[in-house]
Amino acid sequence: MSEPIRFYSTNHQTPAVTLAEALLQGQAPDRGLFMPETVPAISSATLAAWADKTYPDLAHAVLLPFAAGVFDDQTLAALCTDAYDYDVPLEPVTQRRYLMRLDRGPTASFKDFAARLMARWMSVLNRDVTGDLLILTATSGDTGSAVAHAYHGVERVRVVVLFPVAEVSDRQRKQMTTIGGNVTTLGIDGKFDDCQAMVKRAFSDPALAALRLTSANSINIGRLLPQAVYYVYAYAKLAEATRGEPLLVSVPSGNFGDMMGAVLARRMGLPIQRLIIATNANDEVPVFLRTGVYQKIVPSRVCISNAMNVGHPSNLARLVDVYGGHMDETGHLHKSPDLERMRGDLYAVSISDDETRATIKAAYETHGTILEPHGAVGWAGLARYVREHPEHAATLAVSVETAHPAKFPEEIRATLGIEPEVPPSLAGLEECPESYETYSAEYEPFRDMLLREYT
Ligand SMILES: *Cc1c(COP(=O)(O)O)cnc(C)c1O
Repeated sequence: MSEPIRFYSTNHQTPAVTLAEALLQGQAPDRGLFMPETVPAISSATLAAWADKTYPDLAHAVLLPFAAGVFDDQTLAALCTDAYDYDVPLEPVTQRRYLMRLDRGPTASFKDFAARLMARWMSVLNRDVTGDLLILTATSGDTGSAVAHAYHGVERVRVVVLFPVAEVSDRQRKQMTTIGGNVTTLGIDGKFDDCQAMVKRAFSDPALAALRLTSANSINIGRLLPQAVYYVYAYAKLAEATRGEPLLVSVPSGNFGDMMGAVLARRMGLPIQRLIIATNANDEVPVFLRTGVYQKIVPSRVCISNAMNVGHPSNLARLVDVYGGHMDETGHLHKSPDLERMRGDLYAVSISDDETRATIKAAYETHGTILEPHGAVGWAGLARYVREHPEHAATLAVSVETAHPAKFPEEIRATLGIEPEVPPSLAGLEECPESYETYSAEYEPFRDMLLREYT
């Protein structure tokens, strides 16, 4: 049995902790983000041997070293089997380009992958602790429903979701506000960044010290580890086609949690030729990579890929850390990362709404593939990279589709003139009664409500 992996804070002001502590704390006490001290290597022989593994089996194999000392082998296997009871289709769009659809979970976005396993991990850990756990989550649209669904009915866990009331689609909102039970939803009269700031402030507020607060946002390492798995899965499934050649991977990105999953997978040894980070008009990271100067976008720009309307991605601090720099939680750069190495590994590109719509249209007309706005940003980013690097025109590529088109029927209808088929997970929402309260983006009324309702 190997030594359990410990998790350090990107602010380096607190000692490293176990996975259990990192999961339950969410954010490190010094407001940094937890990162694994070591990343176990997966050899190419192992990758090839994993070609036939089912998704739950592969998740178990990839995550086992991270869980060592906290979850035993059998527990982890059972949790993975229980969490991953849906398909993970790798759809060939052209001979060399695949779309990995991560939208088959119960709330029809990739957020289910992490939320479902993290909820199961926490519920096991929570057995040994007294008192209720209060999970605060800010959502740009899809995290809220994935987290609410994953924790719904879990004993001694309560969930509060904050969402920007004017920036989520009707369907996204109904997916959160119709759950009820131990889940409370607050529509915030502000941006996702406001919701995120309110949640982060609550974590470091001494007035709330009596509450056992944690985060289900991608500041929690429990969100990132499961998100490394599907990149390994894609590679293992395509191992025969790649014949050991590296893969291009394109990830539509907002808060950069999904992309950090791919960065972790690459550190495990997954051969990724280039990791394409595709953002919408919130282009603070593409600009940072190009210029070395980081400037948040306040307020964030409103785009049709609404779950990516993030003007200051939390996980950027982790990316900077991986490349030897230090960025604090406010976005202040204390030490520059190795930009040359970042530019070699990553390709960051911003895609406009016009290009997003044109991509949805072209993918449908040319290949019969239905993309929704987020997946279209990733697909357009891949096309842009290959256009600039024609030597990679035949390199095998995987682009991630992060949500089901039926989550964005208005956009699909307007762009393609068709009605996306509604998966069972989204059916029947229209009839469910909604319940949510609206709050301003000010911190104090929110804090007072937490004190009133949860102490
Ligand atoms: C959350 C989300 C994204 C962005 O993922 P990050 O991890 O925040 O970068 C992309 N697409 C959809 C549909 C999402 O819900």
